[in-house]
Amino acid sequence: MTDVAAAIAALPPLRDEIAAAGLRADKSLGQNFLLDLNLLDRIVRSIPLQPGDRVFEVGPGPGGLTRALLKAGAQVVAVERDERALPILQRISAVSDGALTIVHGDALKVNAQELVGKGAHIAANLPYNIGTLLLTRWLSEAQWLPWWRSATLMFQKEVADRIVAQPGSSAYGRLSVLAQVRCEVRIKTLLPARAFTPPPKVDSAVVQLIPRVPELAVPMQILERLTASAFGQRRKMLRQSLKGLPGALEALAALEIDPTRRAETLSVSEYVAVARALASAPADS
Ligand code: SAM
Repeated sequence: MTDVAAAIAALPPLRDEIAAAGLRADKSLGQNFLLDLNLLDRIVRSIPLQPGDRVFEVGPGPGGLTRALLKAGAQVVAVERDERALPILQRISAVSDGALTIVHGDALKVNAQELVGKGAHIAANLPYNIGTLLLTRWLSEAQWLPWWRSATLMFQKEVADRIVAQPGSSAYGRLSVLAQVRCEVRIKTLLPARAFTPPPKVDSAVVQLIPRVPELAVPMQILERLTASAFGQRRKMLRQSLKGLPGALEALAALEIDPTRRAETLSVSEYVAVARALASAPADS
């Protein structure tokens, strides 16, 4: 065990820290804490992490995941909005030998790449109210490969299902296409609601996303408009739902995609093909 790992292991239990700081879970901040050290270590072991790697953590709260990351030898930058958690996090930082930087702020407003640099991992038990928004931003980076090399994220199970959903399922939609165009996606662990303190109403899952190099450039803004139109009326046939998107019906015809199909039957690569056809169509089509 490293000195930092030993010092972390000697810290007071998370429950005691929460009680001493009066960190009563605040629903408006999406606070459901993970206090089971075995579970936290398991999540960290699922990250493709080498000692010395940098990690951007959103919402460390009392710092359970942060402790597990530090024990594994990571250099962590953690952004927390709730100032009540700061004294607890500072006590972790004090024994981390410089491996933990705490930023008091809003994860939606900070520039993660500036804080943590290129090639970092993202790890978070995300606040449920901003989780999808943060993921959508991380997936929509203009430059691909992005600044992060893996993202290991706790979501409500229903959101995790949408991220990894395959065509033909009711969970398949815009988020599935966006995530799968840009990343390899996998559910790593399922967690029942009772694993959290306090337990939320629904179960959770850890999803891991690993950015992949696209074979050809993907016109992301066009893909986004295309999936918005198609899934915006997911029960309609494509010839109806894509009517308002100039060139879309011609693109379907050129690619021999039956326009009577519905949004949820198209594979991710078919969406990419239609978006590419739209991107290369003359502007007045
Ligand atoms: N990581 C801790 C754990 O696993 O026990 C806490 C997870 S809790 C689900 C979400 C955390 O995100 C809370 O500590 C909350 O205060 C924090 N949070 C909520 N909104 C935030 C925001 N906009 N920026 C940064 N942190 C935020």
